[in-house]
Amino acid sequence: MPIHERLESVYAEVLARNPGETEFHQAVREVLESIGPAVGKHPQYADAKIVSRICEPERQIIFRVPWEDDSGEIHINRGFRMEFNSALGPYKGGLRFHPSVYLGIIKFLGFEQVFKNALTGLPIGGGKGGSDFDPKGKSDREIMRFCQSFMTELHRHIGEYTDVPAGDTGVGSREIGYLFGQYKRITNRYESGVLTGKGLIYGGARVRTEATGYGTAFFVNEMLAARGDSFAGKTVVVSGSGNVAIYAIEKVHQLGGRVVACSDSSGYVVDEKGIDVKLLREVKENRRERISVYADLAKHARYVKGQQVWEVPCDIAMPCATQNEITGKEAEQLIRNGCKVVAEGANMPTTPEAVRLFQEAGVAFGPGKAANAGGVATSALEMQQNASRDSWSFEYTEDRLEDIMRDIHTRCIETAEEYGMPGNYVAGANIAAYTRVADAMLALGLI
Ligand code: NDP
Repeated sequence: MPIHERLESVYAEVLARNPGETEFHQAVREVLESIGPAVGKHPQYADAKIVSRICEPERQIIFRVPWEDDSGEIHINRGFRMEFNSALGPYKGGLRFHPSVYLGIIKFLGFEQVFKNALTGLPIGGGKGGSDFDPKGKSDREIMRFCQSFMTELHRHIGEYTDVPAGDTGVGSREIGYLFGQYKRITNRYESGVLTGKGLIYGGARVRTEATGYGTAFFVNEMLAARGDSFAGKTVVVSGSGNVAIYAIEKVHQLGGRVVACSDSSGYVVDEKGIDVKLLREVKENRRERISVYADLAKHARYVKGQQVWEVPCDIAMPCATQNEITGKEAEQLIRNGCKVVAEGANMPTTPEAVRLFQEAGVAFGPGKAANAGGVATSALEMQQNASRDSWSFEYTEDRLEDIMRDIHTRCIETAEEYGMPGNYVAGANIAAYTRVADAMLALGLI
């Protein structure tokens, strides 16, 4: 889709100011393409350099993270925190530890987060952070030393009313525990609301662990219902086997679908009887093993090394691993195999070409900033519980998550219809989120 003529110079400026940050360019382009109809109908949405301001992070923090491994060798990683936009509330967004992390990845994730958080309707701004540290193969003590060093710098930038990080790829409950412990120690404050994704015993919320995956499955349920359909009898393929993937699989099964395959970066497993979530959790969460071990232990499963999970035929595809994992080639294969619904559990796992192919083929496509917003929404519920020194039941919290996902779905559908693009979730999500952030910024003066 072309960029609206009033926004072309904004995109050129983003390319010039952020050279080489291709993932960030991709994320900005998608939003600028989508919001054209809003700018056409309500010109104030391109006045006062509001779009340029939204594309420029409020604050970018880059820092050194020195740490010592078990053999006494010293390593230096780079830490990031992108405080992107606080018009709607404190910066909120996860931390990613992965060797592929660089400024462009954190900036794209922070940018996406601004809109995702706006879509939830909750009072949270957008941010993201992380490091090029690779947690794979590290001992618990090495992970702890790294997290402590990372927080020794990060602590001065965050706070429950300022910036509230959480987990993401490579940062789960173990890492959040070490990060929170170090924050508490340095600041001498038991400030529960400074991090989300905490363990239940020290201020965490029920359902937060499951929330991104569950939320994505709830969102797909709404997409199916909007087409007069349901999960019953549907075959589903999920990529990844981390936090988002595991709980997406669990909820799809509870809603009546059958997930027959999932993956990691080395290959995928197929289990025609349906992935056994208990076994998957044992392999991934307890043993921290590769997905191939699932096939060694499961009766009916087979492991396919080095291939993409998208070659497995399915009715519904849920990419829950990483950015740009479905390119045009995989999209064509999914369409050929009869896939009718795609929803992004991961952030930006689908390339622009693949999105276009899905939309042209009539495949319902749910973008990540809508479909995977359940994680951050439940983080905001964790902040509410921390602020009121309360703890809610699993059932109550899950009901709230389901309501939030239903509301996000409705917001996307209604906005897409209002702007003459019925069924276009990408346009609906981007316009609904952009106008909310822009309205707040315009109300706050030149910020
Ligand atoms: P995890 O680290 O728990 O899991 C990531 C999974 O993806 C691992 O199984 C990993 O395998 C796999 N993976 C990574 N790269 C590839 C690849 N190229 N091909 C196939 N599999 C791959 O991360 P999360 O589950 O937390 O996050 C997954 C995605 O969801 C990310 O895009 C994240 O930003 C997004 N997200 C996460 C949220 C959360 O609450 N955790 C919230 C919203 C979005 P391996 O072990 O081999 O690397």
